[in-house]
Amino acid sequence: MQHAWNRALREEIYRAYVTRATSGDLDNTLIINQILKLRLEQAKLLDYNNYAELSMAMNMATVDKAEELLEKLRSASWDAAVQDMEDLKRFAKSQGTKEYDDLRHWDIKFWSERLRESKHDISEEELRQYFSLPNVMEGLSNLVRTLFEIEIESADGLAPVWNNDVRFYRVKDSSGNPMAYFYFDPYSQPFEKERGAWMSKVVGRSCVLSRDGVNARLPIAHIVCNQTPRVGNKPSLMTIEEVETVFHEFGHALQHMLTRQDEGLVAGNRGIEEDAVELPSQFMENWCYHRETLMGIAKHYETGESLPEDVYRKLLAARTFRAGTSILSEIRFASVDLQLHTKYDPGGLESVYDVDRRVCEKIRMIPPLPEDRSLCTFDHIFAGQYAASFYGYKWAEVLSADAFSAFEDAGLNDSKALKETGQRFQKTILALEGGKDPLQPSLDALLRHNGLLAAAT
Ligand SMILES: [Zn+2]
Repeated sequence: MQHAWNRALREEIYRAYVTRATSGDLDNTLIINQILKLRLEQAKLLDYNNYAELSMAMNMATVDKAEELLEKLRSASWDAAVQDMEDLKRFAKSQGTKEYDDLRHWDIKFWSERLRESKHDISEEELRQYFSLPNVMEGLSNLVRTLFEIEIESADGLAPVWNNDVRFYRVKDSSGNPMAYFYFDPYSQPFEKERGAWMSKVVGRSCVLSRDGVNARLPIAHIVCNQTPRVGNKPSLMTIEEVETVFHEFGHALQHMLTRQDEGLVAGNRGIEEDAVELPSQFMENWCYHRETLMGIAKHYETGESLPEDVYRKLLAARTFRAGTSILSEIRFASVDLQLHTKYDPGGLESVYDVDRRVCEKIRMIPPLPEDRSLCTFDHIFAGQYAASFYGYKWAEVLSADAFSAFEDAGLNDSKALKETGQRFQKTILALEGGKDPLQPSLDALLRHNGLLAAAT
């Protein structure tokens, strides 16, 4: 969809894509209605008004707060998205294409990719040369030393590993006492490993399971990624997305490892509100673009030369490219999810697709095609764990941006201020976990990071 010049082919693929699981035996429509009906029934039995209230009972947000957040994001992104569309049309016209005034669903990704290339042309292959795994891990260690006064040291050999590329690390506090351990399994192995990246606990901090009856058992995590492997003596050279992924998963691991909570049931990542789980992970991602952190990491793996200044600027600019449009497309499904689990009547006259179309009127520049049945493949809410919780992605992003802005306010170049703010973050967010409710976030930082704040005010 991004690279095929054949417009008819793009249209064919698009139409096939939005009508998956919609015909014959594979039509999910009836199953969706049945699921929604049963969920509503379950909620009523438990004395809730609707399923969203039940699903969110243990979350940070309420239905009203989640809807309010989505609406604020929508209105803050709208003008920028309108502008994105104008830019796209103008660009398509400048490229001599006939359809510039009638861009359809199957043209958007294609032309925005051409526009991105022309505006922020960064060669991924060249960029990789600046991000070698050893440098990235060193940069990450330096960052968490500054922020949280912890020391990460290699502890290979201390614990058995399942693959020779797996590393084992020890995390120490500022007095040199071990606090936690983690495995890191970095490389892609298509036939051995699932795709994606994740952090899981091996064991959690616990006083009940203490070995000597005095000191709590220390947490151990494992971080698994699927990045480009090393080749011979050449280290693993990473894309910026792979760097972000390591920081992201390490953020989850921090919450697991830096806990001071000795009660196993609420230590680490346990007992965290579902919509706040991604806070530390997305928070850590922000640091990938922090000048000192990024420039400290980005050294050419052969020459040791720093990342050129203009490339750094392009990386920053590329982060906010079409931000309004991407926020709108993310909140479409979050809004439909909430609607279906609050006001929707499974036995009523309106169909789930009507709800989707109604939501899209306020959210999409081009209305969905009449045959669009994307809901039939919305497995996050119908087959996964995200029913009435899809908004959680955005909610956590707001939290993490808000947390990061505390560091921006303190001064990103002031290491003493960073240290103080880091201590605060550690004591309030990382160390207490399920033991304490997080506070109410502000939206401003997320909008500012996406270049949308002017539109909001
Ligand atoms: Zn995550």
